[in-house]
Amino acid sequence: MVLMSGNILDRIAVRNPDLEWSVEPTGEISVTVRRKSLLGPRAKKYVFDDVGSYVLRLLDGRRTLREVVQILAFEKNMDIKQAELSLVSYINQLQSRGVVKLLPAGGSVKTCRDCGREIPSEAVYCPYCGVKQS
Ligand SMILES: [Zn+2]
Repeated sequence: MVLMSGNILDRIAVRNPDLEWSVEPTGEISVTVRRKSLLGPRAKKYVFDDVGSYVLRLLDGRRTLREVVQILAFEKNMDIKQAELSLVSYINQLQSRGVVKLLPAGGSVKTCRDCGREIPSEAVYCPYCGVKQS
């Protein structure tokens, strides 16, 4: 996995726009995952901890993971290598659960018609401001 970090750091991770994102009264970010099961629709809400919420806020649709690493290292007083390893493994986890999407470098993005952030080209709703795209 570490071998891939050279590539992954140049990519932009965004929150999956198909999920329902919200902010808890405590300031932590939460996401509700809905899926159909044999017993009917199920919804599960996940609340991210301090660090998780902090990282998600840094994924603004513009910053590459390399830039996120630099901010993380500076703000949390970690060395770059350590910040890089932690971030890459965290993003990989989130991606495998469908919580974030990695945008290919230089492709497959559009700009939100309302807030102007970069979002996946297939997004129907902006994951940041919620405005429907057309
Ligand atoms: Zn937007």
